[in-house]
Amino acid sequence: MTPTVRFAPSPTGNIHIGNSRTALVNWIYAKKNDGQFILRYDDTDLARSKQEYADQILKDLNWMGIEPDRIERQSERFSSYDEAAEDLRSRGLLYACYETPDELDRKRKRQLARGLPPIYDRTGLNLSEEERMAFEAEGRKPHWRFLIPNFDGSPDKMKRTNVTWNDVVRGEQTIDLASMSDPVLVRGDGTYLYTLPSVVDDIEMGVTHIIRGDDHVTNTAAQITIFEALGSKAPEFGHHNLLTTSSGEGLSKRKGSLSIASLNEDGYEPMAVTSLAVLIGTSAAVEPVPTMDELVQKFDPSTITKSAAKFDVAELDSLNRKLVHSKPYSSAREKLEAAGVNGGEEFWNVVRENIEKLPDAAIWWQMVEHATPVIDEDDAEFLCEAKCLLPDEPWDGETWNKWTSAIKQQTGRKGKGLFMPLRKALTGMEHGPELAAILPLVGHRRVLDRLS
Ligand code: GLU
Repeated sequence: MTPTVRFAPSPTGNIHIGNSRTALVNWIYAKKNDGQFILRYDDTDLARSKQEYADQILKDLNWMGIEPDRIERQSERFSSYDEAAEDLRSRGLLYACYETPDELDRKRKRQLARGLPPIYDRTGLNLSEEERMAFEAEGRKPHWRFLIPNFDGSPDKMKRTNVTWNDVVRGEQTIDLASMSDPVLVRGDGTYLYTLPSVVDDIEMGVTHIIRGDDHVTNTAAQITIFEALGSKAPEFGHHNLLTTSSGEGLSKRKGSLSIASLNEDGYEPMAVTSLAVLIGTSAAVEPVPTMDELVQKFDPSTITKSAAKFDVAELDSLNRKLVHSKPYSSAREKLEAAGVNGGEEFWNVVRENIEKLPDAAIWWQMVEHATPVIDEDDAEFLCEAKCLLPDEPWDGETWNKWTSAIKQQTGRKGKGLFMPLRKALTGMEHGPELAAILPLVGHRRVLDRLS
């Protein structure tokens, strides 16, 4: 069977760096194993799901270098979910419950007060036909719970029932099914929670590995029993740790925190984002990896640590800087030209070590093309002398040294007193790339113009 993974976001907001970690870990798994990567939109919530978010998610994946092999939408698959739900109902595995949220809350509080675990007591399972009719007559609509197989003979006789799986990331995991409530699969308004549709899809789409955040570990135990109830063997599972902000809060799609779209807009290198999203929270060193192929080689899911990983923008900045400083012109060219930076390889090699993000090259290009010279009154005469000493063309690698030695000899100036007025006149700024490298970029005509 072809190893098949899926990334299953709800298109209810932009994906953030934490979601991208899930996408990347799945994609890398598929690449390493000659597998298939499905992008599955979990868009059963028709009110909150938006096409613009779905489009943006695909754009974000593409930006990071992920091309899904297949795209699926849950909103087109309701008939499959209805069929599975009907099948479970017909076998008594999905049962109607009529409690309101308040009633459930009171039940839980009573259980806790008596020192009992707050597990649903399966009242719905034992309702008589009359009781059901009475609730319906009151206008109550049932929600539907899946009967977890954690009992001996009768559902009243719960017993310890271990579900065990060998987690691709966390190693062997065991959960006692008697420690959980029967999960609600269908809400009172008839809509599905994600639990059942996800299992139905994973079966029908031939998903072999479900890799997702470790906030889903408990779901996994329940879902394994749903796979089995639907006559399927559960796939393999892997749960990676989650990313938090540097102060330890969870990342939230709704807050738009660190969305991939905003990192793109801010000019970060996709490989800085993917290197960090994948390598943070592992025992491997977090370092800038130049290509996705190399990231695939480098990453091993078993190196993921168990505790949450803190995402720090400063770390992203540092990776980005390193990538930009060593980025070959061939891979920078397209973006430079799109930003109107047409200085070619020579220009790029001069500026790349002076910038944090690739689009900042435009600032230096602007400087080369259109700097407004800054000339202090005290320096005007000095610059006039420098202008007279500027070597004629053609220039070569020695031109800068020849020129500045001549200026030094004639004016007696040296060090900062010599270089700063030249820098301010030629670039309009007090800092920047080596003047020796800037000189040929600015060129003979413009240098003359800027010195007076
Ligand atoms: N839509 C679910 C989520 O984003 C998918 C979980 C899963 O991968 O099974 O949490």
